Parts: sequence; C-alpha cells; structure tokens
Amino acid sequence: MAECNSSKNMSRCNCSYSGCSRKGKCCECLHYHLSNNQLPACAFPNDVEKTYDRSFARFVACRS
Ligand code: SF4
Repeated sequence: MAECNSSKNMSRCNCSYSGCSRKGKCCECLHYHLSNNQLPACAFPNDVEKTYDRSFARFVACRS
C-alpha cells in the first residue's frame, strides 16, 4: 500500500478551515465529505470554498 504524502497534499490543499485534523489526508477528507453528501474544499473555487458550503448543489451551481 502506498504511503500517504500528506506534505505534498497540503501544498495543493485550498481548504481554509485550518483546524481540521483531516487536512493533507485526502482519503479521510473525501470519505468524510462524501458521507455527508458533500465534496471536499478542492472541488470548489477559493471564493466558494470559503463559504464552507460543500454541497453537491453548490458544486453544480458554481461549475455551471
Ligand atoms: S475539505 Fe473538509 S475534511 Fe478536508 S481538510 Fe477541509 S474541512 Fe477538513
């Protein structure tokens, strides 16, 4: 099994929620948000990500 490269992941993470323990752990981040019918921060442009609305509806709206 591949090692998690969390420092490389962090360099590409646009999430502005600094207190999150899943930051840099993309598999945990994705699982958490999908289980809440959401997408992770990196699915959204920075201005939308900052609203913390990570819903599928917001994703479709901002990508349409
Ligand atoms: S997108 Fe969500 S789970 Fe991922 S680092 Fe940000 S707050 Fe944490």
